[in-house]
Amino acid sequence: MSDRIETNPALIEWLRDYEEQPWRRYVSGLKQRGELVDVGGVMVDARALFASRFRCDSKTCAMVDRPAGVESCCEEYYVELTLKERDRIAARGAEVVEFLSRKDPTRVAPDRDIATFFDDRNTIELRKEDNRCVFSYRDAAGQLWCGLHSLALEKGWPIESIKPITCILFPLVVFRFENGDILLTATSEEVERMFANPKESLKLPCLLKQAGAPMYVECRSAIETAFGKPFYERLAAAAERYMKSPRK
Ligand code: SF4
Repeated sequence: MSDRIETNPALIEWLRDYEEQPWRRYVSGLKQRGELVDVGGVMVDARALFASRFRCDSKTCAMVDRPAGVESCCEEYYVELTLKERDRIAARGAEVVEFLSRKDPTRVAPDRDIATFFDDRNTIELRKEDNRCVFSYRDAAGQLWCGLHSLALEKGWPIESIKPITCILFPLVVFRFENGDILLTATSEEVERMFANPKESLKLPCLLKQAGAPMYVECRSAIETAFGKPFYERLAAAAERYMKSPRK
């Protein structure tokens, strides 16, 4: 006979509400404003994905002489990995170190241990060095690049075989509710508030400027990687309908 004690249901309910109630309220607000679209069973934040514009260009946020108050995802954000993601990078540690020692020789020595790139204590974070992600490098013009992404392109590897999913998705946000519902949205001040460690305010020019293509178009490869190509096609069709609808 098991001596396991059943957990107090009130505690279970509190844990669930603590985690997902803000997200439920966010979804409910989208619904009320007609900004929630169902795409193949995924709840899509139409305002964030269809009506917002986004362009990733590290020249606007991460040059050495960037203006005060401008933030960059590869400099300010802390990226957390799963064990699998860490192990995928570590398995290609020799190639990663060789690449970064070529592109960023003053910071990365050719014999560096790949384990030193991670802050690995229960949670696993990418370390920061020179006030930027340990896997980043600057080109001759001072522009910041992702070393893992560039290495994958150089070797012909799929980007998702080495780059962390958080980085591939950024600025997209995917939240899974306890009942299996999935919400696809994007980073904003309102969404940031729902994370455990919210920032005071977003200062990322790529999001603040509202320039470039609609979010879902600019993030096409990330969406296809995460949800598949058929999902993207349905998402694009839903975007067209949404933008033509009277509420727009
Ligand atoms: S892994 Fe690449 S994309 Fe992610 S924070 Fe580091 S440099 Fe940026």
